[in-house]
Amino acid sequence: MPIRTRLILWYTILLGAILIGFSFLLYGVLGYSLNVQVDRTLADRAQQIGAAIEAQGIIVSEKTGKIYLPQLEILVNVFSSPAIFIQVVRADGSAVVATHNLGTQRFPYDKGVVLANNQGLATYRTSMMEDSPLRIYSAPMLVNNQVVGAVQVGQSIKFIEETLRQVLLILTSGTALGLVVAAIVGAFVSGQALRPIEQINQTATRIVSAPDLKQRLPTSKTNDEVNRLTVTINGMLERLDNFFQAQVRLSADVSHELRTPLTAIRGNIDLLRSGAANDPAELAEALSIIDSELNRMSRIVADLLLLSHADAGLSLRMQTVELDTLILEVYRQARVMGNGLNIQLGHEDQAIIYGDADRLKQLLINLVTNAIKHTPSGGRVTISLYQDEAWIRVTVADTGRGIAPSALPHIFERFYRGENNDQKGMGLGLSIAQWIAQAHGGRITVQSELNHGSEFTLWLPTKKTASQADSRPTKLKYLT
Ligand code: ADP
Repeated sequence: MPIRTRLILWYTILLGAILIGFSFLLYGVLGYSLNVQVDRTLADRAQQIGAAIEAQGIIVSEKTGKIYLPQLEILVNVFSSPAIFIQVVRADGSAVVATHNLGTQRFPYDKGVVLANNQGLATYRTSMMEDSPLRIYSAPMLVNNQVVGAVQVGQSIKFIEETLRQVLLILTSGTALGLVVAAIVGAFVSGQALRPIEQINQTATRIVSAPDLKQRLPTSKTNDEVNRLTVTINGMLERLDNFFQAQVRLSADVSHELRTPLTAIRGNIDLLRSGAANDPAELAEALSIIDSELNRMSRIVADLLLLSHADAGLSLRMQTVELDTLILEVYRQARVMGNGLNIQLGHEDQAIIYGDADRLKQLLINLVTNAIKHTPSGGRVTISLYQDEAWIRVTVADTGRGIAPSALPHIFERFYRGENNDQKGMGLGLSIAQWIAQAHGGRITVQSELNHGSEFTLWLPTKKTASQADSRPTKLKYLT
C-alpha cells in the first residue's frame, strides 16, 4: 500500500476514534447532567410542598385514616408550573388531590413506589403518560412517625430525549463530515509533502538508467528531511561516480602504464635479436633498460597487489623498529632519487616503535617520492622526526608546487591524481601510505599552500597512546 494511502488511513482512523470517543463522552455527560437536573428540581419542589403542608397542619381521620387538609388543592397548585405536575396520594396510592395541569389524568399507579413510600423511602420512577416519558419523584408524608401518604412531583422528560437526539444527530453528522474533510485535507497535505520524494524517485530512476552518473538531484534551500535525503543521495552519486571514474581510469592507467615498459622491453629485445647482442656496450644498455622497465612493472603490480591485500585484511609483520635508522635509510635513498634537489634531514629525535619496518619504509618512500616529483629542481625536501609524549611525528616537507585546496580532500583516494599533474603516477601512492599509517593506529595529515610547498605528517602512536586509544587527537583532518 503506498505511503500516502497509509498516512491518510491512519490519520483518518485516529481522528475518527478521537471524534467518536469525544462524542460518546459528550452525549453521556449531557444526558446524565440533564437527568440529574430534573431529579434535583423534582426533589426540591417536593420538599417545599412537604414543608408547606407541615406548616398548615394535616388532619388525619382516626376512623377512616383519610387525610384532610384545608385548602390542600390550592396549596399544590401554588407549587405547580406548566411543566411540573403535582399529586398528593394516600398510603394506598389513591390520589387525594392533583394540580389543575393534570386535568382528569393521574400519575400511573406503581405498586413498587407505594410500597417504598410506605416504608418511608422516597423514590424516582420514569413512567409513560400519554406516550410521553414522565419522571416522578414520590416522597412519603409522615404524621406522628407514620406514613399517611405521599407527595408526588412529576415532569415530562421528553425534552431531554429530544435534546439528546439532536445532539446525537449533530455529533454523528459532524464526525462524518469531519472525517471526510480530514481525509481530503490529509490527501492534499500528504500529496504536497510526498511530492518532492516522488520527484526524487523519478530523477533517481532517470539517473540510474542513464549511462551518465554526473547528473544530480535538484536541492532546495530548506533544511528539511527531503532536502537532507537529496543531499545524501547526491553525495552517494558523487562517490559512485568517483568510484566508477576511478575504475575506468584504472583500466586505462594500468594498460597505459604497462604498455610503455612492455613496448620498451619488446623494442630492446628486437634490437638484441637484430645483432646488438654482439656489441657488449649495446647489450649492456639494452639489458639495463629492460631491467629498469621490468622494475617499473613490478612496482605497479606490487602496488595493486598490496591494495587488494589491504582490502582483504592483510596483516603486518610487527617488530621493534628504530624509526631514526629507518629515516636515515629513506634519506639515503631520496638523495639518490632527487637529483638537482636539496634533500636534507631536519629535526631528528630518536624513536622506537612496534610496527612493520618494510611497510613503514614504503610509506615514507612514497611521501618522499611525491615530494621529489612535485618539487622543481633547486627546491628543498626536508625529512624530520619528532618524538612527543603521545605521538611520534615524521614530517616530509617540500618547497614544491603545493596542492590546490579543492584537491586536498581527495589526494588520499585511490587512483586520484591531481589536475595539471604532468608527473607519471597511478594515484596509488598516498592511499597505500594512508592505509599503512592507519594499520599502525596512526594517520597521515597534510598542510599545503599552492606554489609554496606541502608538508605531509605521519602520526604514529607511542606505546602509551596505543594502549589508551581514546586519547588520540580527533583533529587529525586534512589541514589547509
Ligand atoms: P601518484 O602516484 O599520482 O603520485 P599519489 O597518491 O601519491 O599518486 O598522489 C596523489 C596526488 O596528490 C598526486 O597526483 C599529486 O597531484 C598530489 N600530491 C601528492 N604529493 C604531493 C606533493 N608533495 N606536492 C604536490 N602534490 C602532491
